[in-house]
Amino acid sequence: MLVVDFENKRIEADNHVVETYRTCEEKYRLMLHNNWVPEGRASELAFGLAMHAGRARFKQLIMGGTPILDAIEQAVIHGLNVWDREQNDAMKTIVMIDDKRGQMNFARLLRGYLTKYGDPVEYKSLKVEIPGKRFLGTTPDGWEFNYVYTIDEVVEHKGKIWPVEFKTMSGWSPPDDKWFAKFNNMSSVTGYIWATEQELGTDIGGAIIHGMWVHAEPKAGSKSKYTLPDYFKMDYSYRDDDQIAEWKLNTLLTGDDIVRSIEKNRWKRADGLACSVYNGCPMKRVCQASPAVRGKLLEMDYVQWEWNPWARLED
Ligand code: SF4
Repeated sequence: MLVVDFENKRIEADNHVVETYRTCEEKYRLMLHNNWVPEGRASELAFGLAMHAGRARFKQLIMGGTPILDAIEQAVIHGLNVWDREQNDAMKTIVMIDDKRGQMNFARLLRGYLTKYGDPVEYKSLKVEIPGKRFLGTTPDGWEFNYVYTIDEVVEHKGKIWPVEFKTMSGWSPPDDKWFAKFNNMSSVTGYIWATEQELGTDIGGAIIHGMWVHAEPKAGSKSKYTLPDYFKMDYSYRDDDQIAEWKLNTLLTGDDIVRSIEKNRWKRADGLACSVYNGCPMKRVCQASPAVRGKLLEMDYVQWEWNPWARLED
């Protein structure tokens, strides 16, 4: 939780907090209550943060009248500065080996993405990187729940207003229909749609998802069928008012659950599917060790990193 104010029965949380708790209470305790993240994981977060920062800088420059090619180059430089700032030396050593998150590939991906989806006519930016905190409702247990968010961008596209959710992903192939389908009941997207409605005071029927495949440049002679523009895809994800109301109630219920865990210092371990999805839970090494050695493992292989949903706006 970002804020739990027991005196005033007030909480603040963003979607990352809510979703992590739902995935596994122990993961929430380790990563968001006690702020442990593995070094490699922190480097992934830093890469995503820098990519968002570069993208946002491009949009701001375009809105200010900078020509597209200049804006792309300035955005790349800005993104690389954020990349550098957000990683300590140990993390930089890791990304040297993992070259898909290195500086060269960062610049290649951001240039490629902005060349494909930076057209200011097709996506007319109205607002960029909108931080917010708004009253979502009162939980069944009587807590005032304030929902925290950062909307990547609000655009006018094909005659309608949309929030844009920019996502990086890895894996063996670029974003496809199956990857986009998962956003259709993803709480973060519903949250952005709700937040955009609050920001603009108007009904919003859906969000645009922009996906970037974080993949290293193929080596000479590679048989990869993907060229750089294939790394970037977009799709729409729709919500009606009933779906938004359902999301709201669900979020409030999770707020009560988190408060209860904190109050009683009681955390359940998922010990199942949640431990192995995607590349596996980043805390798996700790959870698989005997309880007596977990503290030492955390000190040796993990770093302290406090989740801040507005970190990418701090420059
Ligand atoms: S490894 Fe499994 S039990 Fe441990 S924190 Fe991750 S999801 Fe939870």
